[in-house]
Amino acid sequence: MTREKRSGLLHHMPRKKTKGQSPADLIEPDSSLEDLRGAAESCRGCDIWQRATQVVFGEGAPGAEVMLVGEQPGTREDLDGRPFVGPAGRLLDEALIKAGIERRGIYVTNIVKHFNSTTRGKLRIHKKPNAEEIAACRPWLEAEIARVGPKVIVCLGATAAQALIARDFRVSRQRGEMMKSPLAPLITATVHPSSILRSRDDKSRHAEMRQFVEDLKKIARHLPPSALKRK
Ligand code: SF4
Repeated sequence: MTREKRSGLLHHMPRKKTKGQSPADLIEPDSSLEDLRGAAESCRGCDIWQRATQVVFGEGAPGAEVMLVGEQPGTREDLDGRPFVGPAGRLLDEALIKAGIERRGIYVTNIVKHFNSTTRGKLRIHKKPNAEEIAACRPWLEAEIARVGPKVIVCLGATAAQALIARDFRVSRQRGEMMKSPLAPLITATVHPSSILRSRDDKSRHAEMRQFVEDLKKIARHLPPSALKRK
């Protein structure tokens, strides 16, 4: 990674839009996950890349039983170029350990592969991707799902759940429900770990974390022993 990327300065530089680099132009039917990761660096399928430092593609084992899908990379992930490495990722790791799910057997990704932000002074503030941007990025996610072949897809947060399960999905009411899906044998949703970090006080943070771990334990019941931690 260049020094500019590491420091997060790249998004301040003028960047040109290049035509003909949508996911449809870049995804080959026989491309591996590694090929896809490399190809996504050139993606100009929507405008989000202009505000981001670099693409953040999914990571994990090609045959992972579980695919966790969040909304988009955060600031830390945008600078590191890897998904779920910031505070929310650390909380996710802690919850997976408590639920007895083997982290190595999981593939983590996002429905949108670049960090979408708006600026406030010198700060970059997270901005939810719109329906058009989510649709533009979807071929990358579908290509990941096709290569990984997860048994269970877990949507983390409402944006992912509404994009992959149903537009009217309500995480508060339907979290933890296991459903069938054309994308995988089972799909479910729970909160995004960043929402736990935003809890108003310690007491509610602990309660939210407990419920998150319970959702992951429900998912663990549907997984083969290879995806679980040995006791
Ligand atoms: S967000 Fe997705 S579609 Fe948009 S430029 Fe990035 S990789 Fe391409």
